[in-house]
Amino acid sequence: MVCLKKPDKPKHRAKILAKLSQKFSKKYLKRKCALENTSSGVFFIWKKGVPMSKTPEIFNIIDKLYASASLTRQELRFLLDNRDGASDERLFERARAVSARAFGKGVFLRGLIEFSNYCAKNCLYCGIRAGNAGAARYRLNKEEILKCCENGYSLGFRTFVLQSGEDPSFSDEALLPLVSEIRRTFPDCAITLSLGERSRESFEALFAAGANRYLLRHETASEAHYAKLHPPETRLPSRMGCLRELKRIGYQVGCGFMVGSPYQTNDDLVTDLLFIKDFAPQMVGIGPFIPHRDTPFAAFPPGGLEITLFAVAVTRLLLPEVLLPATTALGTIHPKGRERGVLAGANVVMPNLSPLENREKYSLYDGKICTGDEAAECIGCLGRRLSAVGYELSFARGDAAGFAAD
Ligand code: SF4
Repeated sequence: MVCLKKPDKPKHRAKILAKLSQKFSKKYLKRKCALENTSSGVFFIWKKGVPMSKTPEIFNIIDKLYASASLTRQELRFLLDNRDGASDERLFERARAVSARAFGKGVFLRGLIEFSNYCAKNCLYCGIRAGNAGAARYRLNKEEILKCCENGYSLGFRTFVLQSGEDPSFSDEALLPLVSEIRRTFPDCAITLSLGERSRESFEALFAAGANRYLLRHETASEAHYAKLHPPETRLPSRMGCLRELKRIGYQVGCGFMVGSPYQTNDDLVTDLLFIKDFAPQMVGIGPFIPHRDTPFAAFPPGGLEITLFAVAVTRLLLPEVLLPATTALGTIHPKGRERGVLAGANVVMPNLSPLENREKYSLYDGKICTGDEAAECIGCLGRRLSAVGYELSFARGDAAGFAAD
């Protein structure tokens, strides 16, 4: 039993009930508890068989997060350990409100061009890791990449995301003319790079050539956990060093992490949330871990939808103006995953502009969706999906707050 008011006067009961109905959904109250008015107070009576809920404390923490955009490690851990359907519902509703305040009902569109699936690295979760001899490799040349941009531009895309594995063939000599040409040809577009770790000089040269944004997921901010997901030569300090360097240079920087990756604990997840709050990137990519059949993690289960949405919503509340994609991985683990992502505070979608024949080969995980749809079909489909939940695609370039278009 939880005492709500003591001592109680009968006339206060209606007021208390009205307040409680505002705070908790009626359905939740009915399902989990009854209210009892006694001479010594009004009490929550938990129904038989329903364990005592920590919902009131969780709701207070969510309200604090909403009001202050900040929580302590202990509060985040409490929220994560004790979340349930009612608290998630509250969290998503708050995250939507914050997102609507910053971005309205528009969801920014980015065009993804996966131009090479060669990679020198061996991250244990990744389907295009160097050690996967079964991966069908491909590279697009400069003309093919520019063609993807042209196609995207004609469809209304104003951000191109150039993504690849860490492919040594794409040295600065190969990349700089490409980035310069995209900048020259599409001066009103943002160029986002997602090429993995590179030298400081390379980051600087690419920025000078016209790149605006850089995505580099850190995957986990816990050093011990990072070591379980990567071979010994791939180290977290190097990743974090790159992120800091990118920020210093002036890129709009995106980091991000997987939810439900092998060996991840709740404490690791909290470490990720605290890291993004502290680092304050302009973009955060959060997706569920999805196993790939040809990796050492093939037998691990995927991350869950609800806990991924939880991480998306907390991120929105910690960083109200961050650009937050409803990731393809979310759409892969659930048919409505991307819509649910938007309803949990996400405000970006990233359809694929790569040539159809290469899509399936960029196989980071199994079951990736939309590998067979033309970009035009994808836009139509996403537009319909978003309007069904009260949102619309935005064709604006969508820079982060404080970063004006060139
Ligand atoms: S996650 Fe990135 S760096 Fe790691 S193997 Fe895959 S493509 Fe390469």
